[in-house]
Amino acid sequence: MSLVVELVKVTPRNRNFPCRECGRKVGDVADQAYATTKYGSKKSATYCYECGKTKEVTTKKFECLQCGSCCRNLRVNMGEWTLGLFLLPDETKFFPEDKIFPMWAIGLKGRSRPRPETIGVFQLDSATCIHMTEKNTCRIYDKRPVICHAHPLSLTIEQDRTINASVNASCKGARKIPSNTHIKLSDYFSDDIIKASAAASAYLQRMFHESAGLIWLFDLRSHKWKRVTETTVIQLKA
Ligand code: SF4
Ligand code: SF4
Ligand SMILES: [Zn+2]
Repeated sequence: MSLVVELVKVTPRNRNFPCRECGRKVGDVADQAYATTKYGSKKSATYCYECGKTKEVTTKKFECLQCGSCCRNLRVNMGEWTLGLFLLPDETKFFPEDKIFPMWAIGLKGRSRPRPETIGVFQLDSATCIHMTEKNTCRIYDKRPVICHAHPLSLTIEQDRTINASVNASCKGARKIPSNTHIKLSDYFSDDIIKASAAASAYLQRMFHESAGLIWLFDLRSHKWKRVTETTVIQLKA
């Protein structure tokens, strides 16, 4: 289990907190203090500046807190779209057929009722995943969809169709990680997560490459296809 130690400002709210080590009020020692969080448990402590200096920063890597939120809030509203869990075609077999809908598509057919030609990605229309156990673990962990593997990385699809990975701000375990696209992902995430995110990104990129600019996303609320024209942030998992 890793411990994250960070320097925090002494504020009116925390200035009277006793230092875990020496017991002095943290505000009496300096205008800065140290706070620690033990990932994987709710334990946290505050140290005065002097005692906190001696604590070692062991890691700032992402660790899942098993809160279950990302498997329970799979349906998300994103601008014009309500979207579900992103599923590659061969991943749909793990989910109930009547809950599977198309998600990403390309091309164009039909003059009177224009619609996409080829569906590349499907989605699950369900807020809670049937594979989550009461203990917030995944029943199909080894076979879970690539997007579950990539979580908490999301993909941002830019107007020019380039795709960037960014940190999903709603994941509690990733809260301390800056949520912009310029961070060095390997500072915070395991190779596994980065590889899965790259695989999902490469899949979409290949699809977009064949699309001649015509990209569609299926909205679960209206049950209609809508053309993607602007920069779209797609939180692939809530
Ligand atoms: S939301 Fe984040 S911390 Fe919570 S279970 Fe999902 S990955 Fe883990
Ligand atoms: S497949 Fe597993 S990891 Fe993915 S949403 Fe379902 S329970 Fe969560
Ligand atoms: Zn102290």
